[in-house]
Amino acid sequence: MTPPAQSYQFIFRPTMLCNLRCKYCYVGALRDCNGQIMSEKEARTSVDWMIAFCKHHAIRNVSILWHGGEPLLPGIDFIANTLEYAESRFGEAGIPMSNQIQTNLLLVTERHVELFRRYFGGTIGFSWDYGSDMRVYPDGRDASADIWEKALWCREKGLKLGAICQITSENRDRPIELYRHFSEAGVPFRLGPVFPSSMEDVVLAAETACAVIDAWLDDKSPTIEIGNFCEMVESLLTGTCRKCYLEKNCGRVLLALSPGGRIYPCSRTIDNCDIIGNFHTDSPEAIHVRRMSFYTNKEDARCANCEFSRACAGGCAFHYKGGWHTCECAYNYRVLKHLSERMREFGHDCC
Ligand code: SF4
Ligand code: SF4
Repeated sequence: MTPPAQSYQFIFRPTMLCNLRCKYCYVGALRDCNGQIMSEKEARTSVDWMIAFCKHHAIRNVSILWHGGEPLLPGIDFIANTLEYAESRFGEAGIPMSNQIQTNLLLVTERHVELFRRYFGGTIGFSWDYGSDMRVYPDGRDASADIWEKALWCREKGLKLGAICQITSENRDRPIELYRHFSEAGVPFRLGPVFPSSMEDVVLAAETACAVIDAWLDDKSPTIEIGNFCEMVESLLTGTCRKCYLEKNCGRVLLALSPGGRIYPCSRTIDNCDIIGNFHTDSPEAIHVRRMSFYTNKEDARCANCEFSRACAGGCAFHYKGGWHTCECAYNYRVLKHLSERMREFGHDCC
């Protein structure tokens, strides 16, 4: 069995609850029946289990991604105490550890800003879909303007921001505007389609992505990166991959820990049928074995003959399981082809 990667990620989900009801959110179906928030005691147990996992598998360094649900919902004291505990315990274990966070920003206060500076290297991630009304409060009001306002406030406080922007039917005809909006604000972003989507929608999304790539590459003085396109360029040039969905078996790089001790394969998985164990009871070895075999082989015959197989590695295993692989492949192929053609214009030969 392939051991875990020496650089490993734990997706720490202290709650699956959220203060928003985004229209595309995959957690929505779970929210009403799983209203748990980790206690501080349970969060400490999860940290201890992560360290046991690292020691057992000789993992050399770790990133902990605070995710959810909305990870700020358990409260500022929970966050501060858990961060302090994790830093102290990983330090004692001699395992370098860093934190990342993906939040909707709405609960951020001055005190959170201090924690973000102290424990997150001053960088936070948020989701915001340019020109769309996908992000809404529980009463249905559009939250987009409030989120962007909070993002600008965080930036004024000196935090570095990274956005995830979905390509939607509202913004897909405005790729130049979309790029300029993030560029002028100095906010780097990641861009992609919502899954599941129809084939028609992903083909249109690929056209949008290619137009955004052109706006970015033709920008004479770019101020921002588009993170997932940078990763695609890197994998096109080197054949090595930094992201889970570019791994042949994503089971070697990450796990998600949730309230109740539930362990899931990754942040995309939320259903009871996806649970692969429990950090209150299961050993690190058993969980790694189950994680590695959770998804069936994601590469199909077409991938084996695909010019981008080294750069794409067949896409996301979750999309295979959900039956959306064909759509993801159509999107990935178009975007990788466009990027590789543009790289050739710059004199780079791509794999
Ligand atoms: S299923 Fe997809 S999102 Fe989840 S870890 Fe694997 S590649 Fe990443
Ligand atoms: S672009 Fe499609 S065929 Fe090519 S490797 Fe990716 S998923 Fe497979």
